[in-house]
Amino acid sequence: MGKHILLLGAPGAGKGTQSKRLAEEFDLEHVTTGDALRANKDMDIGHMDTEFDTPRAYMDAGELVPDEVVNEIVKEALSNADGYVLDGYPRNIDQAEYLTSITDLDAVLYLDVSEEELVRRLTGRRLDPETDEIYHTEFDMPDDEEVRERLVQRDDDTEETVRERLRVYEENTEPVVEHYRDEGVLVEIDGEQSPDDVFEDVADTVDSA
Ligand code: AMP
Repeated sequence: MGKHILLLGAPGAGKGTQSKRLAEEFDLEHVTTGDALRANKDMDIGHMDTEFDTPRAYMDAGELVPDEVVNEIVKEALSNADGYVLDGYPRNIDQAEYLTSITDLDAVLYLDVSEEELVRRLTGRRLDPETDEIYHTEFDMPDDEEVRERLVQRDDDTEETVRERLRVYEENTEPVVEHYRDEGVLVEIDGEQSPDDVFEDVADTVDSA
């Protein structure tokens, strides 16, 4: 049976990068609510008794999309996966309780990165829309000029929205980290190391899970 892995961390901690690699090397499904919502930003959620009619309205403001919407996405994705790495969910205690009711976990990892570093990473983050490769204006730009010119910034990576996303993280998601820490299942990883070194720690943890 494939492993069930949960990767926690603030926006910009490296969850996407590490999950992608984990999924490849351990043959797991990469289940990420952020990507799923970005691909369906304008879906009509008006029938769900939510404040806004589309995920976009929440996402562009840096707010959480309502639980009803994301819980459904995760339930559907997990029911189709043997092993998985879950990235970007749960983001509040209610979601964590819902997750407990639909699946079990083999390992819960937390990528620890300071707030100052998170802001620097998020506001400089750039995306190649053709390959989905992630770059950074200061630390990691592509050599190819053609690629450099087509890079875009995520709608919610502007400084103001980044601040709001970090505030929402602190208020809603830090309690989720505490919850798994209290249960004694949280494995904390230094997320400020190089991506390769972070992956080494991540892979070691998953290996022994
Ligand atoms: P991410 O790519 O994980 O940073 O997610 C981008 C945005 O999608 C977040 O700022 C939220 O608006 C929304 N989102 C992603 N995952 C969730 C979730 N589990 N619960 C609520 N909103 C989410």
